[in-house]
Amino acid sequence: MKGSVIESMRFADKDIVLTDSRSLRYPERTVFFALRTPNNDGHNYIAGLAAKGVDLFVVENVPEGVSGNFITVDNTLEALQSAALEYRKSYDGKMIAVCGSRGKTIIKEWMAEALASVGTVTRSPRSWNSQIGVPQAIFGMDLNAKYAVVEAGATEPGEMARLEAIIKPETVVLTGIEPLGGADTYNSYDQKCSELLSIARNAKRIIYPAELTDIVDRHVPPQVLKIAVVMPQGADWMERDRLIAAEALRVYDAVADDKIVRPLYTRLNASAGVNNCTIITDRFTCDSFSLDSALDFLMRRRTPERRVTVILDRLRDGDAKPEIDGVNRIIYVGNGGMSEHEFLNNVAISDFTDELILVKGEDGSAVATFGEQLQARHHETVLEVNLDAVVHNFNHFRAMVKPTTGIVCMVKASGYGAGAYELAKTLQSQGAAYLAVAVVDEGEELRHAGITMPIMALNPKVTNYDSLFSNHLEPEIFSFGMLDEFIREGEKRGIKKYPIHIKFDTGMHRLGFLEDDIPTLCEKLEQTDVVNVETVFSHLATADCLDMDEYTMAQLNLFTSICDRMRAGLGYTFKRHILNSAGIARFPQWQFEMVRLGISLYGVDTIGVEGTKGLRTVSTLSSIIISIKEWPAGTSIGYGRRTILDRQSRIATVPMGYADGLDRHLGNRAGCVWVNGVLCPIVGNICMDACMIDITEAPDVEVGTSVEFFGENLPVGDVSNVLGTIPYEILTSVSPRVKRVYFRE
Ligand SMILES: *Cc1c(COP(=O)(O)O)cnc(C)c1O
Repeated sequence: MKGSVIESMRFADKDIVLTDSRSLRYPERTVFFALRTPNNDGHNYIAGLAAKGVDLFVVENVPEGVSGNFITVDNTLEALQSAALEYRKSYDGKMIAVCGSRGKTIIKEWMAEALASVGTVTRSPRSWNSQIGVPQAIFGMDLNAKYAVVEAGATEPGEMARLEAIIKPETVVLTGIEPLGGADTYNSYDQKCSELLSIARNAKRIIYPAELTDIVDRHVPPQVLKIAVVMPQGADWMERDRLIAAEALRVYDAVADDKIVRPLYTRLNASAGVNNCTIITDRFTCDSFSLDSALDFLMRRRTPERRVTVILDRLRDGDAKPEIDGVNRIIYVGNGGMSEHEFLNNVAISDFTDELILVKGEDGSAVATFGEQLQARHHETVLEVNLDAVVHNFNHFRAMVKPTTGIVCMVKASGYGAGAYELAKTLQSQGAAYLAVAVVDEGEELRHAGITMPIMALNPKVTNYDSLFSNHLEPEIFSFGMLDEFIREGEKRGIKKYPIHIKFDTGMHRLGFLEDDIPTLCEKLEQTDVVNVETVFSHLATADCLDMDEYTMAQLNLFTSICDRMRAGLGYTFKRHILNSAGIARFPQWQFEMVRLGISLYGVDTIGVEGTKGLRTVSTLSSIIISIKEWPAGTSIGYGRRTILDRQSRIATVPMGYADGLDRHLGNRAGCVWVNGVLCPIVGNICMDACMIDITEAPDVEVGTSVEFFGENLPVGDVSNVLGTIPYEILTSVSPRVKRVYFRE
């Protein structure tokens, strides 16, 4: 892109750079960059955006029949980056880049918060640290701020050097560099370090954990001041992050120590609330900047049927009553609107029904407390679902298959217990090819919630054809009876070429046509134009059994020959798929045109091979302690006196019982829970709504302390091992009454 074009684009009264059409808020202020990514093409959204009032587009080719102003470039991503680089030249404050394998967002927020006590600060939103996110963050920054804190991340050679050119950091804060992982495309750890450290090549200083000293010395030029932070033995991530941030802040000396130690939470939550509302909250500082992120998160969750409400406390900066587009009502509290007192007296929980509500206030304020009440905490047992981990795991597998291979994401059984809808939304935006549900009802719910991508219904029996057709759910067909019925139902409705998925049994011996059925099957399919075979698939019985690969190979070979015969018989081609999670990790050469990703999407490693290293835990089931008592040796605990204490013990009660999905076989010291870093046995028989745990060995436990049943700290596989079952069963057994809380980091 030429300099003059950059100038005209940058200053032509557009101050918002948009790359994701869903984030559109102020059309007349927006310039849209149509980016091409492996999964999506921004050019497809131009017409829609033009219809909403956007009139300036940067494109690789000008679409036909759309009016607007178009700037044509060879590569829109490069154009975005070079425009950001130009824009960056106008900032002469202190630029700080935070990079490293993890903890970037928390350190960025932490530093921005602390620096605000000594000067104006601008920072990059959420986790915008990619080739696309960084340029956008640069465009969004306040050029008058004294300090700028920006995240930078890279997974491929060359990426960090490009970000360095854009950010031009004065100070680099490095959290750590993890060993090569799934998303990495580097040849070696050393190459990864060298690439990541290119962020510091023109910096004044770099702050980093002391264990990386050799690496930093090798890859960062000698003129850069190197500040190593020695980590105490056994320091956890929180402590490490705090020490790194504190050291970096000392560079900007006027920052007071008490500003440095305040922990910050950096995530947005969406959770079920009272009266069928969804409540969005965050723990960011209440300022106009974090409001923007929260509004974006809010808008992505809106559906046509639901009203959208914002309850907004006084912002630390900016307008008393900022203008917010696209919401049905806004309740301002603080200097621009009603006082806290008026708010508490005039606004009631019962005023809200069937709405999507963003509640934004400082911790401890009346607004934040109101938000907690809206969240309908009947009891404190929650399944927390980390949507960023879902994205991470999806991309982990995305990187393992060819770019052209479609990924079918299995969200059956309510997303393996995590809740299908939020996952579906997330996966839809990540570019999954298909979702697969078990029964038609699940698919119908997803459609009602606004999911538009293709959905496969793997149900053994369709009874509601009206729903199937009207929701455009694509059935799995596994028998002649089913095929005949489907064709009859389709004919009744005059349906043509409806996509179906033919299942073959190649060794699972559950459902599916057999090889010998091929001639009859092809004949029937030739005689009708109601259906079109979209895919042919089968399922592996032993993909995760490391000692049964011979059986797997026989299935793979049989499937290949079945597909060849089907193609010959039908005279047209279709896509093929047989691999599940374990199959993708172990037999990627058999990916055909599609793969089906299930358990690994949820971060559960069922086989422990190289390909599944680095997955992130998605679901964490936890509750809190509601009572603690000290008992002498000899005391019995619970129904039937099945546990007798053999020493003086501290016993806590937790409101999680078998009605919540806690298997009774985990009682009487068979299973454990995780409390403050210690595994504590479950004692006594598990009750319907509660259980007791032995916390004698756990430090600093009090009423209100969190107890993890499985998740981030206690792998779900450990729990299933105790019970002699598989993680799938544990995940899908969490009762629907347990509240699901979704968050992004
Ligand atoms: C559940 C299921 C999968 C996913 O299996 P995972 O082991 O969870 O990856 C794939 N295909 C079919 C047909 C399934 O029913």
